Amino acid sequence: MKLDSLLKERFGDTDVGSEIYALAASIYPICRSITGDGVRKTLNHLREHIDLNVNEVRTGTRVFDWRVPREWNIRDAFIKNAAGEKVVDFNVCNLHVLNYSSPIHAKLSLAELKEHIFTLPEQPDLIPYRTSYYADRWGFCMAHDRLVELPEGLYEVFIDADLTDGYLSYGEYLHRGETREEFLLSAHVCHPALANDNCSGLALLTYLAKLLAGRKTHYSYRFLFAPGTIGAITWLARNEHLVGRIKHGLIISCVGDGGGPNYKRSRRGDAVIDRVMTHILQHAGPNSAVCDFVPYGYDERQYCSPGFNLPVGLFQRSRFGTFPEYHTSGDNLDFIKPEHLAESLRVVWAALNIVEGDCRPRGTKPKCEPQLGRRGLYSSLGGDKEAPANNMALLWVLNLADGVHSLLDMAERANLPFQVIADAARRLQEKELLEGLGMEPMQPIASHRRNQLAKAGHALSRAETAVGAKGQSIAKAGSSKRTPLAAAGS
Ligand code: ZN
Repeated sequence: MKLDSLLKERFGDTDVGSEIYALAASIYPICRSITGDGVRKTLNHLREHIDLNVNEVRTGTRVFDWRVPREWNIRDAFIKNAAGEKVVDFNVCNLHVLNYSSPIHAKLSLAELKEHIFTLPEQPDLIPYRTSYYADRWGFCMAHDRLVELPEGLYEVFIDADLTDGYLSYGEYLHRGETREEFLLSAHVCHPALANDNCSGLALLTYLAKLLAGRKTHYSYRFLFAPGTIGAITWLARNEHLVGRIKHGLIISCVGDGGGPNYKRSRRGDAVIDRVMTHILQHAGPNSAVCDFVPYGYDERQYCSPGFNLPVGLFQRSRFGTFPEYHTSGDNLDFIKPEHLAESLRVVWAALNIVEGDCRPRGTKPKCEPQLGRRGLYSSLGGDKEAPANNMALLWVLNLADGVHSLLDMAERANLPFQVIADAARRLQEKELLEGLGMEPMQPIASHRRNQLAKAGHALSRAETAVGAKGQSIAKAGSSKRTPLAAAGS
């Protein structure tokens, strides 16, 4: 299904980029960490859109070489000068507190205080984001410009936080497809007020789940919203029996800025998702780039650890650590834009469309070229800019439709976008020159399953109900014919 028609059907004229932005903005002010109420509050926001399952794992639970840490909750924090004025206030920006800081209430000299202050001397007007998850420490973060202004004197520091035995929370949502084979989509939920890293990823995946709800898909789609590192480790430890189902995976972070797009390959380097993302980014403009796996970054580190070695890559706009706003108060709501979020959604949707729609069709007239002009397939209209690519796509599909080459193989060989090849294949199938495509992927689900999924779709529109009835018959006709790549390939 084309994203544009799906967006129209589901959201009417509302711009999906603005919708994603609004959700990112609503969760931006929440003070998250690896555990605690900030994560729960965030998951509850996402739950207003999708039927998210929130899991709670007890402090101390062993997860491979780690233990689930204590729960961190913070109510207030400030630094007051001798006159009793707040010079740093957690309520103004939650980056001001060293994330996961132990509580403190003390009076200190400026020199003593400075030992607990983090700044960015090279970006003196920005507040850094710092954490101290696995060492007992307290601290504040502030703009360097503000620190140098502080006069000598006695300062009152107060961090009203607690670290107690509790739970680690993560959210999970499963869109069930025709098979149990899964596409994993994961975003970290542990950063406080940082818009690109990773309110953008959380919001984008929530909307993607919303778009899929009520759609018939080949794969099941598992969405994970978990704290970085420890969340992925916890999920893997509790779901080791499921990981064999994961056929493709993407970690999503920093998808709201205008850079890239960038893709980091899985540890395997030649997984289907690596080919798919490389293909999409080749056609995504001059700033797009693909890089090899390195064991540093986001949760692909855990999914691609040697004991799992899953086909999971990382999708970003600007690469983490390369933009000046990264892990600072500069990564705010002005830094992300609806149009970039919408574009990022298009990239991820294109990946889903490829894994869903890829197949190995067969031409019905393999001996010499069939006569295309007679069938009205050759576009000979002068001035049609798309015509040469469309004509080439027809020729490539006819030439490679031998039941061995997949549509992605053809797109790579022809150096044409997958969708151009898929559209050409569909036109050929309509003229009975090709078989084995089946239905277009992402059609609405048949009505008997809709009730179960209606909640997930969050009030599916009346317009969609009409399409759903139509989709039922299309789905039946297509499902027997289609040869999914996963079945044909392995
Ligand atoms: Zn980060």
